Amino acid sequence: MNLIYLDNNASTPLLPEALEAMRPFLCERFGNPASSHVFGRQARKALEDAREKIAVLLEAQPDEVVFTSGATEANNVAMFGLAAPTPARLVTSFLEHPSVLEPINELYRRGNAITYLAVTPDGVLDVGKVRFHEDTRLIAIMLANHETGAIQPIESLLRALSVNGNGRAAVHCDAAAAAGKMPISFRNLGVTTVTISAHKFHGPKGIGALLVRRGVKLHPLHFGGHQQHGQRPGTEPVALAVGMATALEWSLRKLDEHQARLLDLRQRFLAALREHAAPVMVNGPVEGGLPGTLNLSFPGCKADALLMNLDIAGVACSTGSACSSGSLLPSPVLQAMHKTGDILHSAMRFSLSPLLRVADIDEAARRIVQCVNRLRQAHDAEDGSIG
Ligand code: PMP
Repeated sequence: MNLIYLDNNASTPLLPEALEAMRPFLCERFGNPASSHVFGRQARKALEDAREKIAVLLEAQPDEVVFTSGATEANNVAMFGLAAPTPARLVTSFLEHPSVLEPINELYRRGNAITYLAVTPDGVLDVGKVRFHEDTRLIAIMLANHETGAIQPIESLLRALSVNGNGRAAVHCDAAAAAGKMPISFRNLGVTTVTISAHKFHGPKGIGALLVRRGVKLHPLHFGGHQQHGQRPGTEPVALAVGMATALEWSLRKLDEHQARLLDLRQRFLAALREHAAPVMVNGPVEGGLPGTLNLSFPGCKADALLMNLDIAGVACSTGSACSSGSLLPSPVLQAMHKTGDILHSAMRFSLSPLLRVADIDEAARRIVQCVNRLRQAHDAEDGSIG
């Protein structure tokens, strides 16, 4: 039985070109980019070339790119770096990833007040209801949601902030689920900081970046070195940076082709499930979200049982963010979207890659149909025996 991987929002396989580009910097060109000899200079050149490539691809300046170990670290560096030492008000929503919500919880314990923005049933921030308090210091809003693919209205939100906010608030945007899957212009987005993570777009694990607008000073979270202007000290992982730049360049160069392919795969997959495993409900935007992310409820099934059955059937997917898996609690993202009962408890996330073959998506749909129908029959039989 071949294994079919439909959990690309959790992580993706490394692009072969990225591995090839990384190889010299893991082996013969291993120097520390801070060293002044030739080994160091080779490493520094590769690191700065990667930084520049990422900056160009995301319409930022090279000195605005700070390498981190991934999105979790980038979100922490941004949130604690932007929050004032004296308590103020922070604004976010329950759509955010735990690597934003947990720093928010810690900042609450340190005396900050928190406002959670309202969310529509489609998983988009309800901008019409947004009112910013005078004392707002930091707003944390993601670009695209990792569980539903919903793209957030950053522009309207910034407009609302300039109309009724104090104009001094910083805005952090977690773009970990969006980077490589939609165009991002740091220049035009108008936010203070942006998070990306390489392993979400076929780059290596262990590297991400925080884009930090020129002139913005972050309160440092780490101490101990001068690297990256002290914003994230420590020896930079040159090979990982080269791999991230290569994967991002590939993702964005082929973006139109990938989006068209993902839309095609998504429609095919959804049509097969609707035909043979109805009822199937889409949680999130039916159109206009990230095409590779599909959150579906199968009423009559329990999500954890379905996940386990699909694993045995060779289909890898998830019931939500990998960082909250292991928890049997229903997804906070779906709860924020007012999903309840059977819809909430039967929700599964399928996340596709443009590298998937049509035959694999068809086979995955066939196995899912089998598992869903079997679980529904067992559920009905159980209900009958109880009644
Ligand atoms: N933010 C979002 C939106 C994510 O999807 C993830 C990965 N699940 C993260 C942050 C954390 O990313 P990393 O694994 O790079 O720490």
